[in-house]
Amino acid sequence: MTALVSGLKECGVDLQQADFFITHMHADHAGLVSTLAVEGARIYFGWADAEVIKSSTPEHWEKLIDFARKCGFPGEELEKAIGSHPGRRYSPNTSLNLCVLKDGDAISIGDYLFKCIETPGHTAGHICLYESGKKIFICGDHILVDITPNITLSFEEQNPLKEYLMSLDKVYDLDVELVLPGHRSIFRNQKERIRELKQHHQTRLKEVTSILGKGKQNAFQIASQMTWDIGYKSWDLFPPAQKLFAFGEALAHLKYLEEEGEVGRQIEGQGLVFFTGVSNA
Ligand SMILES: [Zn+2]
Repeated sequence: MTALVSGLKECGVDLQQADFFITHMHADHAGLVSTLAVEGARIYFGWADAEVIKSSTPEHWEKLIDFARKCGFPGEELEKAIGSHPGRRYSPNTSLNLCVLKDGDAISIGDYLFKCIETPGHTAGHICLYESGKKIFICGDHILVDITPNITLSFEEQNPLKEYLMSLDKVYDLDVELVLPGHRSIFRNQKERIRELKQHHQTRLKEVTSILGKGKQNAFQIASQMTWDIGYKSWDLFPPAQKLFAFGEALAHLKYLEEEGEVGRQIEGQGLVFFTGVSNA
């Protein structure tokens, strides 16, 4: 809060007159908006994430916990992961008065005319803003320059990786000179970065397939064998919340492979295990 308020002051932002555009519901993007927005301020939000914020009830978390347990996340660690989950600790309150945006909606501010582009993947309701005249793209966590956005599956019915890859294609042809992301540095080479991100996920899909080549496993076992760029020497040392993000990322890749017909699943005991065509034969 202190850093944000002093940064806004440095930019000459008067919070008494400020509206807010939130790219997605994650706590590190939306968590402080309920504290910063004065009465009457507009808070722009993608419609699908607005639904999630409204439904962030105890039942929502129970559903997430049940699915994680079913996919092999150990119970005790799961409790710790949920307890320290930023979405649970820092999400904005659910009574926010949101101006809901849909694909193609326009926001006009001074000399700028922004168009809203829905980019589901990183979250189901992630949105970006594009200023075609000035060739500026405000992209939240859709495209980041030296880290990759977390693509995570939390509920059975989703296929976030498929959506994410489609959303990368959707913005590939935009004429962009300046990209303003939600983390790390601003950048200009949007097309090149999109190609790298797509390649990254192809490599990850191959990695998951090759791990499954050893035999059927649950998502937690698969996540523990994937390579993670994180400052801990082994999987066991990851903090529980980081394990949960990694596990969700593994599940996103498994679900993608499953819908492509490359991976199958079956119930074994209480849980769900995945297999490749080869290992099942
Ligand atoms: Zn995010």
